Amino acid sequence: MKVGILAIGTELLMGQTVNTNASYLSRELSEMGISVFYHYTVGDNPGRIQLHLNALLEQCDTVFTTGGLGPTLDDITKEIVADTLGLGMVMDQHSLDRIKERFGMFNKIMPESNIRQAYFPEGATILDNDCGTAPACIVSVKDSDKNIVILPGPPKEMKHIFEKYIRSLLLEKNQHAMHSKYLSIYDLGESTVEDALLDLVTSQTNPTIATYAGDGKVLLRITSSGLEKGMNELAVDEMVETVKSRIGSHVVSDNGDDIDKVILKMLIHQKLRIAFVESCTGGLLSYSLIKNPGSSEVIDSSLVTYSNEAKIREVGVKSETLQTYGAVSHQTCHEMVSGLAAKTGVDIAVSITGVAGPTGGTREKPVGLVYIGIFYKGEILTFENHFTGDRETVQRRTVLKALKLLYDRLTSQTN
Ligand code: ATP
Ligand code: MG
Repeated sequence: MKVGILAIGTELLMGQTVNTNASYLSRELSEMGISVFYHYTVGDNPGRIQLHLNALLEQCDTVFTTGGLGPTLDDITKEIVADTLGLGMVMDQHSLDRIKERFGMFNKIMPESNIRQAYFPEGATILDNDCGTAPACIVSVKDSDKNIVILPGPPKEMKHIFEKYIRSLLLEKNQHAMHSKYLSIYDLGESTVEDALLDLVTSQTNPTIATYAGDGKVLLRITSSGLEKGMNELAVDEMVETVKSRIGSHVVSDNGDDIDKVILKMLIHQKLRIAFVESCTGGLLSYSLIKNPGSSEVIDSSLVTYSNEAKIREVGVKSETLQTYGAVSHQTCHEMVSGLAAKTGVDIAVSITGVAGPTGGTREKPVGLVYIGIFYKGEILTFENHFTGDRETVQRRTVLKALKLLYDRLTSQTN
């Protein structure tokens, strides 16, 4: 399905209102695997609305309009749609009753001008608006499969109607026509992912592949459309296998979940209890799991041992170790995690100690040097990492790396 979005309203062109309706619709539609081909924005001008409506109807199967459903004279969307398709305008009694009722709820009498909101292009499917007075509607284009979905301008009302009616209609229409999977990829940059899949991305026709990067994760969408029933699923699964054969150790989910959620599910499923002792990340790692509901089932404790004294007092790091090797070292990291495991009796313990910067770095121990230790069922491994970036970036990258190492331990791939 090809979609075009026509945002109507002079305030959008004047820069007074940001066109969030178009971005919302685009995001929702593309997540459903529906292609949005055009965004047009026009003022409340009949000629230009019609010109762009016609252009979109020529190129797209479905056109979404937003705005211009209000009671005032510059709200003309439905009239222009009717005019463009050669349809009359018909009053809908149910809508008129509802609009009057809405005014009654606020102890007001409906002004005469609001009657316009109960008029629709003939044959339109009317969609009640529970958040405002302007009902939305869907108008089918005669002798074609094309539709115009007419939505109100206020974002709250537009979203309400999209959620209540449009999403399920689109899903129904697209059910057998397309299928998507979202792979969550970690510890690999977007360009490296693209390089590894370059031939698949450039030669793609069906399934199509797209990458989205953000928050340390690359999301890879694989979508197949237009095949016989069941075949889209098969085509997507085959492509998932091909991708996994190349970068499988970096794929942590094939339903788009973040790594923290994936780890939490694994811990709950395997009934494993976990504890954390963090220095330079100040509890960020444990929070990345604790922010998810259900974490109480598996999380034992989280300590922040920032000073040397705290490392000695809380998890039994030896003062000789700190003196000989320093707080940022394999040895301290090892003693932190072994001390924590002994103290708590958990199945898994994680320690972090590093130089987050911007000060405190030396030639031997520069900013960005971070050790991560993992105790897993009696075995301890410590990992040396060199991260770049400012303090916050080093901390964020440390957390992501620790999560990936934890994931690898849980799936028994240490790399
Ligand atoms: P109303 O009944 O409020 O007049 P309407 O359907 O006629 O609704 P508009 O008059 O076009 O819609 O816009 C109403 C308000 O909705 C605008 O002032 C603006 O704040 C918001 N709005 C309109 N279009 C958009 C858009 N594309 N993105 C975000 N906000 C919008
Ligand atoms: Mg208006």
